[in-house]
Amino acid sequence: MSKVFKKEVLSYNTNLTAEIETDVNENPRARVHSVEWRKIMEGEPVEINPSIGHGYKIMTVEEWAGRWKRNDDFSECLNCNSKNTKEHHFTQTWCRGKKTWESELLCMDCHSFTWRSYRDPDFKLPEEYEREKWAAMVAGQAIPV
Ligand SMILES: [Zn+2]
Repeated sequence: MSKVFKKEVLSYNTNLTAEIETDVNENPRARVHSVEWRKIMEGEPVEINPSIGHGYKIMTVEEWAGRWKRNDDFSECLNCNSKNTKEHHFTQTWCRGKKTWESELLCMDCHSFTWRSYRDPDFKLPEEYEREKWAAMVAGQAIPV
């Protein structure tokens, strides 16, 4: 129970202490789907979602993105202000209560990609904490006595 409560309090999109970086592109900035997007744009067949069938098919953008969901926290296309968007990429990483995340939407009206990313100013990955700890220990040993 306490875990659920904690999850509600620590949300990726609240208590932001830095600017959200935004970017609008004709092609996805996230690597995921970028190959398929190029094929869709060139009218080449793309792989059918394995939960629907198998093989390859030429698809419209609407058909290809049909199963993606809207992100209601950030739904606005920054190119045309439409909220008719679908999120194709989302990641969030938490470490010691600090967070970083990325979101990218495809606009179903103008077919541009809206990127948003955020990083707490003092966010560090667990391996960065480890590296600093070791660097401090090594530095400590190097001090002449
Ligand atoms: Zn748009």
